Amino acid sequence: MNTAGTAGTAGTAGTAGTAGTAATADSALPAGQQPVYPDPAALRRVTEELSGAPPLVLPGECDRLKDRLAAVARGEALLLQGGDCAETFDGVSEHAVHSKLTTLMQMSAVLTYAVAIPVVKVGRLAGQYAKPRSLPTETREGVTLPVYRGDAVNGPAFTPQARIPDPERLLRAYRASSHTLNLVRAFTASGRAGLGQVHEWNRDFIAGSPLRARYETIAAGIDRALHFMRATGARPRDFDDSEFFVSHEGLLLDYEGPLTRHDDRTGRSYAASGHMLWIGERTRDADGAHVAYFSRIANPIGVKLGPATTADAALRLIDRLDPDREPGRLTFVVRLGVDRVREVLPPLVEKVTASGARVVWACDPMHGNTLVAPSGHKTRRFDDILGEVRGFFEVHRALGTHAGGLHVELTGDDVTECLGGGHDLGFPDLFHRYESACDPRLNRGQSLDLAFRVAGFLED
Ligand code: PEP
Ligand code: MN
Repeated sequence: MNTAGTAGTAGTAGTAGTAGTAATADSALPAGQQPVYPDPAALRRVTEELSGAPPLVLPGECDRLKDRLAAVARGEALLLQGGDCAETFDGVSEHAVHSKLTTLMQMSAVLTYAVAIPVVKVGRLAGQYAKPRSLPTETREGVTLPVYRGDAVNGPAFTPQARIPDPERLLRAYRASSHTLNLVRAFTASGRAGLGQVHEWNRDFIAGSPLRARYETIAAGIDRALHFMRATGARPRDFDDSEFFVSHEGLLLDYEGPLTRHDDRTGRSYAASGHMLWIGERTRDADGAHVAYFSRIANPIGVKLGPATTADAALRLIDRLDPDREPGRLTFVVRLGVDRVREVLPPLVEKVTASGARVVWACDPMHGNTLVAPSGHKTRRFDDILGEVRGFFEVHRALGTHAGGLHVELTGDDVTECLGGGHDLGFPDLFHRYESACDPRLNRGQSLDLAFRVAGFLED
C-alpha cells in the first residue's frame, strides 16, 4: 500500500472521499496514474482543506485566455507555452520564476516579429508538480523503489521513505503554486518587461551567441520596427504585451477536484488551480476519469496526442471535451517525434478540420524526441526539436491550416540537459548542470536559439 500505483480507480485505494468535489462524481471511472495513499484519513483532511482554500485563478481570467486561444484557433494569433517538465518546491524563487518568464517573453518577441500576429504566452508554471510515468518502479544498483511522481506526490530522493505518496504534498503544491503566481503577477504588472527592454535582452543574447550572424537579420528587423513605432509617436507602453497565463497537467484528481469552483456569473465550474489544464498522453482515455473531469470544467484545456493517436480517437475527444465546437476551448498538443510528424499529423488535422471543430494545434517537439545518452542521462537533440517544429509548420502550410503554436520544456537557467543549440552542447556537457527533476529542458540560450531558428524559417 505504500507504493504509487500505475492505474488505480479513483474510488479505491483511499482516493475516495473528496466530499463535494468534481472528482467524486467520477469515482467509478478508471483513473490512470493516481497515487495510492497509505492513509485515507490524511488524504481526506487535505482535500477538505483544499476545498475551502481560495482559488489561485479566477473564472474571468480563464475566459480571457479562452478568448485569446480562440484567436489562435482562427489563425489570428500564436500560442507559446513553456516551462519545466516538473516544477519543484525547492525551485520556487524570484530568480527562477523571473528567468523563465523573461525567456518566454524574449522568445515571444522574436516569434511575434516573424509571424506578425500576437503571441499568447502561457507558462508550464505555478502547478506543474505531478508527473505521469511509464513505469511504476525504478531500479538502481539492484534496489527497486516506487518511481518519483512529482513533488505533489512523493520525493525525488531514492529512499523508500521519500517515495511514499504523502497527501500533505498536495497542500505544499497549492502553496508553491500560489507563491509562483504571486511572482508572475508582480513581475508582469511591474512594467519591467516592455518590448524595448525584451529586445535589449535579445540583443545581449545575440552578442554572445556563436550564431549571431545568422540572427542579426531578424534583430535588425526588430530594431527597425521599434524605431518606426517610436517615430510614429506611439507610446512604447502601447506595445508592451506582458499578459501571461499559467497552465499545468491536470493529473491528480484529488488536487483538481477539490480546487474546482462554481462560478455564479456563468453557472459553470472552473478549475481554480490554473488558467489552462491539459490531459497527458497516458490519461486521455475518452472513457476515463480525467476526460470526465475535464468535460465539466469551463477552462480552456489541452490534450497531448502521441504518435499512436488515430483520427477517430481525436474526434471522440472532441465530442467529449468540446461538444459545442467552441474555438479556444480545446488545444491538441501533438508530440509525434521528428521522424513521424510528417506522416502522422496530416490525417489527424484533415479529419479534425473536416469535422468542423476549430481546435488549436500546438507542437510539443520534446516528448517524441527523447533519447538516453551513453551516460544514462535522458536527453534530447536541439536539431530533432527544431526538425519536428519545422515538420509541424510544413504540414500545416501544405494543408492550408494554422500551425497554432509551440509547447516546450525549458528553463531560464544555463542548465546542460539537451544537446546541440548555438553552443553545441555534447554528451560530456550533460555532466555539468543536469538539474531537471524529470525530462531534459532547453536552457535559456537553446530556447532563444529555437525562437530565432523558427523565426528564420517562417520568414523564408
Ligand atoms: C509532459 O508534458 O511532461 C508529459 C509527460 O507529456 P506527455 O503526456 O505528452 O507524455
Ligand atoms: Mn516532460
